[in-house]
Amino acid sequence: MQTVRHSEQTLRTALISKNPVLVSQYEKFNAAERRLMNEAFQPASDLFGPITLHSQSDWITSHPEPPQDFEEFFNAPSRKTPSPEKRSIYIQCIGLLGNTRIISEEYIKWLKGYCEAFFYGLTVRLLEPVPVSATRCSFRVNDSTQKLQIHAGHILKFLKRKKPEDAFCVVGITMIDLYPRDSWNFVFGQASLSDGVGIFSFARYGSDFYNSSYESKGKALQKKSSNDYSVFDNYYVPEVTSILLLRSCKTLTHEIGHIFGLRHCQWLACLMQGSNHLEEADRRPLNLCPICLRKLQCAIGFNIVERYKALVRWIDDESTEAPRVTPKHSHEDSVNLPKPVEAFKEWKEWIMKCLAVVQK
Ligand SMILES: [Zn+2]
Ligand SMILES: [Zn+2]
Repeated sequence: MQTVRHSEQTLRTALISKNPVLVSQYEKFNAAERRLMNEAFQPASDLFGPITLHSQSDWITSHPEPPQDFEEFFNAPSRKTPSPEKRSIYIQCIGLLGNTRIISEEYIKWLKGYCEAFFYGLTVRLLEPVPVSATRCSFRVNDSTQKLQIHAGHILKFLKRKKPEDAFCVVGITMIDLYPRDSWNFVFGQASLSDGVGIFSFARYGSDFYNSSYESKGKALQKKSSNDYSVFDNYYVPEVTSILLLRSCKTLTHEIGHIFGLRHCQWLACLMQGSNHLEEADRRPLNLCPICLRKLQCAIGFNIVERYKALVRWIDDESTEAPRVTPKHSHEDSVNLPKPVEAFKEWKEWIMKCLAVVQK
């Protein structure tokens, strides 16, 4: 395992910059907020640590790209700031996210709540969920997984057409696997930053994506014509687990981060690190490093402490209003569907440590 370690000076400049305008802008954060952000360059910080590399297939090794410090972000033409008229993030669900409509609707509400806390100060709205057929996208059965895939670019065009007037961005989410073009195997997601739209699939985040019964269903599907969208009716969706919810929240916030113009982070362990494979995505934390946090704060203008508190509230608010849900195989029994937040406990402890630093 290798560690990407930057000097204290490099991290300080990446965060604060040497540009006098940006330095004085940094000084407008209150002392407590600066104490927290300055942890970025404290070598002994237990809040922020270096990026670790575990294999040659990790993102930084396989996709060399220029790093982006705060000043570069600030000066980038691709930087996007929500205007007062366009302060809503819209989420469009495509196909079901859970095995029943009710589970699916709960799931999307959990994601909405998480995004609202994460992008604190913006409004997150849900567009009416649509079936795959509504998008008129191309689809295929993947040769190696034997699973259905939908064409990411076609979905982006659909989302662009549906983008509401007050939208900062529209993000589509689906449990169906995606492909960007015929020659590619798959893609986790795709976005058009200029159009402010993105589509992300959580299909490969389910624990049973490579499950064989699912596979044989795909083989049968291959015989169907490619404009018969009925293949998506009752199509497999992964079981909703805490780890699936965590991965979905992580992907969604990382990808929306890109829409603001945040590039992949190469400074510290951070949500905005690139990831090439699931194991690397799992290693990536849910939190932003101070450099990326400053970028997002600059775009949205939130209060750092209030944002952390909102995230804690989302984690704590697990089952207070749990709805009665009818499970798939029974129409008589109903079960509680509490938000599965077990996997977020570590993240909560981390936020509490941050709050302790700012409230000291
Ligand atoms: Zn990314
Ligand atoms: Zn970062």
